[in-house]
Amino acid sequence: MRTGFDPEQLQTPSLAEVEKNLRACVHCGICTATCPTYVLLGDERDSPRGRIVMIQRMLEAGGAPSPEAVEHIDRCLSCLGCRTACPSSVDYQRLVDAARVHIAEHHTRPAAERLLRRFIAEVLTRPERVANGMLLARFFAPFAKRLPGRLGAMARKGARPRAIKSEFPQADPAHVRVALMPGCAQAALAPEIDAAAARVLARRGFGLVPLAGAGCCGALNHHLGDTRDAKAWAKRAIAAFEEAGGADAFEAILITATGCAAHLKDYAHLLADEPEWSVRAQIFAAKMKDLSELLGPRPVTPPRRLRLAWQVPCSLQHGLRLSGANEAAMRAAGHEVLAIPEGHLCCGSAGSYSLLQPAIARRLRMRKLAHAATLAPDAIVTANIGCLDHLAGPDAPPLVHLAEVIDWSEGGPVPAGLVRLLSRSGGRR
Ligand code: SF4
Ligand code: SF4
Repeated sequence: MRTGFDPEQLQTPSLAEVEKNLRACVHCGICTATCPTYVLLGDERDSPRGRIVMIQRMLEAGGAPSPEAVEHIDRCLSCLGCRTACPSSVDYQRLVDAARVHIAEHHTRPAAERLLRRFIAEVLTRPERVANGMLLARFFAPFAKRLPGRLGAMARKGARPRAIKSEFPQADPAHVRVALMPGCAQAALAPEIDAAAARVLARRGFGLVPLAGAGCCGALNHHLGDTRDAKAWAKRAIAAFEEAGGADAFEAILITATGCAAHLKDYAHLLADEPEWSVRAQIFAAKMKDLSELLGPRPVTPPRRLRLAWQVPCSLQHGLRLSGANEAAMRAAGHEVLAIPEGHLCCGSAGSYSLLQPAIARRLRMRKLAHAATLAPDAIVTANIGCLDHLAGPDAPPLVHLAEVIDWSEGGPVPAGLVRLLSRSGGRR
């Protein structure tokens, strides 16, 4: 595709990268069928190809974006299904990231929208504030159906089960050390997931050591186009890792939410233009591992026998491009692992998307649950707190994190999501 950037614009490395990707796009449209918003809405402007055209026009022209561009780029989930499908290797992530930064810098949103985005950036990135926000959401949860759009979406979060107090096991000094990023929302909503991951990995000879001083990974800020705060979180995580001993002290860095893992692996790109941080970010990103990369299959006696619908998060299949090891681990424990039809399409969670675009997010959720229902599973397993939280509800099968189901299969406690199911069968499965 031809582009019309002037030479001065191309001096900016991010725009030069954008231009390279724009030129690679041949407008074949193969990606459109894999785009959740195009599949739902059938509007070319809600397809990757349509967005690419709008992104090009917006960035070439500079200045304030058109309301049309903002509307349709905002509706993108950043699921990266289009990147996986593209035969021309267009890296759509670089395009939409640059577009979001441009919109954040050149467009003034209505006051209510600005407030919501500030809330996401300031509250959802800090576990103690998430915990307080949940108290408020619980109060409004019974009225969620009567509250409009975004307010209803926030109130519905209050219906999720309370976090379970969970003892985080001390790492065995004889084990290979793995640094654990504690994250933000998950640390408040479901700390039991990290405890389960620690037990699972201990059985495989890894000792999980929480990184004191590290906070949110910054993915939420990044998706809002807020590069300054995204970089600040990244630097804090890198400094905490170095403080704890750095690359010599740890075999790997882990975070048990795949959405965050995909972002952490991209730190080298995020900080590439900062000389003081670029090499440190490369070292950090090189150590990042997803749980699936540490989770060797481990046969269980007697085997467990649940029918598990495997909801592969977009961040895992399209972002990290990993998945198979998780299925092997569940099968090794004796479970039947079922692929959800149309599994390449996002469930609608997508970080803060379910708060920013609740109507589309809800339709994608219903679509995912309808496909899962065709399998009549005992439970849905996923590996990202965002998907888990978004899909859970009275109309859904039990939802459980991969680390929890593997831990329980290998002798750990029953996950909260499986308590009712297992009590019906007297604990046998
Ligand atoms: S599949 Fe790739 S080359 Fe084709 S329209 Fe989509 S992004 Fe462009
Ligand atoms: S990232 Fe997802 S929602 Fe956005 S254009 Fe690509 S496929 Fe569509």
